[in-house]
Amino acid sequence: MIKSNLDIFKIGVGPSSSHTLGPMLAAAQFLVKLGPNVHATARINCTLYGSLSLTGRGHLTDKAILWGLSGLQPTELTRQLQQQIVNKSFVEHKLKLNGEHEIHFDYREDLIFSKDFLPEHQNALRLQAFAADGALMCDETYFSIGGGFIKTKEQMALAKDDDIDFADRFSIDNTRVALRLCQDDNLNLAQLSLRYELQFHDEAYIDQYCSDIWQVMQEAYHNGLHPTNEYLPGSLHLKRRAPSMAAELKSSDDPFALLDKVSLYAIAIAEENASGAKVVTAPTNGACAVVPAVLLFLQDIRDDFSPSLVRDFLLTAMLIGSFYKNNATISGAEGGCQAEIGSASSMAAAAMTTISGGDAFKACAAAEIAMEHHLGLTCDPVDGLVQIPCIERNAFGAVKAITAARMAQARQSQPRVSLDEVIQTMYLTGKDISFKYKETALGGLAELKLDS
Ligand code: SF4
Repeated sequence: MIKSNLDIFKIGVGPSSSHTLGPMLAAAQFLVKLGPNVHATARINCTLYGSLSLTGRGHLTDKAILWGLSGLQPTELTRQLQQQIVNKSFVEHKLKLNGEHEIHFDYREDLIFSKDFLPEHQNALRLQAFAADGALMCDETYFSIGGGFIKTKEQMALAKDDDIDFADRFSIDNTRVALRLCQDDNLNLAQLSLRYELQFHDEAYIDQYCSDIWQVMQEAYHNGLHPTNEYLPGSLHLKRRAPSMAAELKSSDDPFALLDKVSLYAIAIAEENASGAKVVTAPTNGACAVVPAVLLFLQDIRDDFSPSLVRDFLLTAMLIGSFYKNNATISGAEGGCQAEIGSASSMAAAAMTTISGGDAFKACAAAEIAMEHHLGLTCDPVDGLVQIPCIERNAFGAVKAITAARMAQARQSQPRVSLDEVIQTMYLTGKDISFKYKETALGGLAELKLDS
């Protein structure tokens, strides 16, 4: 499977990459399939299945589909536009398909929350377009497989991604291959990842991509410190904590302040995500704050912090993320929270080790340590909202990443468990975890009835 890994990081919309960004992109893809028939469409029907149905309202799946059907891209979203589209649909029962053609849309009738699960994947949605005479013009089922990646029913039936295999391109299928390539050519993981990406893009493009991603990560942090709403949306009526944490830390001479800052970075960004704002999927939205929190922390403590360090950090993290995505899963609905926060922590640990001078072996050891201590972590968001335990969990993912990077760098002996082995273990553990603990909000903390 030969494919660029840049889209392990993408600019997306919160609170969930699989439940918000994926469905939004599926709706946008449906418009492409519909083509000129968009103007002949009289009615759109959308059915949500499985986890998308069970936690869809809390994860804004329903609204994301409206944004996607309106022709918006995630990068174009603003709070005002999002609200306008939702109001038009909920109050006026109207939807402007692709921003061009207005149809009647009744949220209660045209958006169906089905109790069924489709066999291919826990996150499924079906979109259908009908003409005025009731004729079905377009019908597609999409699966949101995690990290904002989507597949059609046909693509799910293929054993692997339908990417073209180029004989003259090299692939990095797992850590074992990566370590051999690094050893052969004396590369660290960032250099190997760059060499890999240069098969798809020139260096200027890669630099710009990483710079844009870093820019949005910083904006998300800044916006999280200066929110327009004091409370996060949803039934829990949760007060945002980042602004007061930042105020306390400003004048603090507490020796633990450095550690608290890591939590602040993660909580500010995770709260932005929970509010449905623009963030970077890294590798998912639920876990979007782990990688930037570690990077923001490194910015604080490194005098030599620079755009090239940021690029190397992101290149390393995306390579590690690709191993999880391609050989296991990064979806909470498929593998539990270990697949989301665990993968993000593992990516950040390897990235921090690399830009701290660690070779590929040290970086993979750090990634292994970080995942090892997330194994078994379930996904049980209270009331289906990406808030409790998700927001704090990002802070713990970041702290564990930093600890793992430090442990790996200090270690003198050979690690006994390889990164490939822990990735496989995470995947098998995820398969064994009851579906109650995989983004269905049916078990664990999700069962608690908290006062608002
Ligand atoms: S518990 Fe973890 S996997 Fe589940 S929604 Fe929250 S962050 Fe995502």
